[in-house]
Amino acid sequence: MGLGGAGWRSVGSKAHRWGCLRLRGFSSAALPPHMESVGFIGLGNMGSHMARNLINAGYRVSVHDVNENAMKKFSDDGIPTKRSPLEVSESSDVVITMLPSSAHVLDVYSGANGLLGNGGRLGPWLYIDSSTVDPQTSRKISMDISRCRLKEKKGYAEKPMMLDAPVSGGVPAAEAGTLTFMVGGLEEAYVAAKPLLLAMGKKLIYCGGAGNGSAAKICNNMAMAISMLGVSEAFALGQNLGIKASTLTDIFNCSSARCWSSDTYNPVPGVLEGVPSSRNYDGGFTSKLMAKDLDLAMASASGVGYKCPMGSGALNIYQKLCEEGCDAKDFSCAFRHYYTGKDEK
Ligand code: NAD
Repeated sequence: MGLGGAGWRSVGSKAHRWGCLRLRGFSSAALPPHMESVGFIGLGNMGSHMARNLINAGYRVSVHDVNENAMKKFSDDGIPTKRSPLEVSESSDVVITMLPSSAHVLDVYSGANGLLGNGGRLGPWLYIDSSTVDPQTSRKISMDISRCRLKEKKGYAEKPMMLDAPVSGGVPAAEAGTLTFMVGGLEEAYVAAKPLLLAMGKKLIYCGGAGNGSAAKICNNMAMAISMLGVSEAFALGQNLGIKASTLTDIFNCSSARCWSSDTYNPVPGVLEGVPSSRNYDGGFTSKLMAKDLDLAMASASGVGYKCPMGSGALNIYQKLCEEGCDAKDFSCAFRHYYTGKDEK
């Protein structure tokens, strides 16, 4: 039988999840024994909520972060905390990482006291990295893991496996458990991991081999940056030509310029309620993270000898915004800070 045997699939069903959520502290007896213990590393804006959702779904979670305050929020609730990634690895069947960038991920997996120890036999059979990193980093770690062996056979797994599973949806979706996961790696590992991922998200997309989840994520974010800058530039031109942004939005949204940046995340203050542009560009997805993702996309493009002129132009704009003090503002602030310098109703 493959890794995704029928006994595994029901565990992450919505019915199971909500049943568990109603019963906090629920016993993990219904989980397959080789999926019960989950180590979670990186308890930041995203990871803290993702780890909580796993706990609520009945997984036995232990956590690690270099930030003591982030760990204290869990230890105060009786969740075991670990001093290093290696310690996490020693008590886990599965390890999930949610870290800022490629350098942090490489350090946590391959650094001193890292998850892979000295490259010998590993306790966990599955490693899932949900950080946004370049596909080359995901592929390197996946290759390093595939060269290791398991301390003991776990479930159907004969050897340790790795999935790159970055997310979209942001902090509200991490909290609500409605993230979308883009997953790269062996398909059998993906099928086996579905219940775990569905405890943190509602949509899973299998993207193919190792690194393809990371590739999908950075392509999505590059397109998002370019479309945000595209509509911002058009709104700014419209303003200069005497057309109100709200009128132009109505036109875009029933015409060929319609996109997420015009109908869901409009960058012009006052056009849509409840989006960062209507609260001084606070909250949301920061310009700093967008610059990081564009940087990853450009580095990945140059790694395969490909040029992305629009992506590289977008990176220049977001780097400039960060240098000018907008690093903590939502990335839609490009409308005000790069294109117009003032608000518009
Ligand atoms: P964050 O900076 O809030 O959290 C990262 C956490 O990792 C921090 O608590 C930090 O202390 C910890 N950390 C750093 N180095 C570590 C190490 N060596 N060992 C252990 N812990 C370490 O970041 P975030 O917003 O939670 O984002 C995490 C990842 O998810 C990033 O790659 C980001 O690009 C991606 N992402 C973020 C969002 C978002 O809206 N915030 C949306 C989608 C994807």
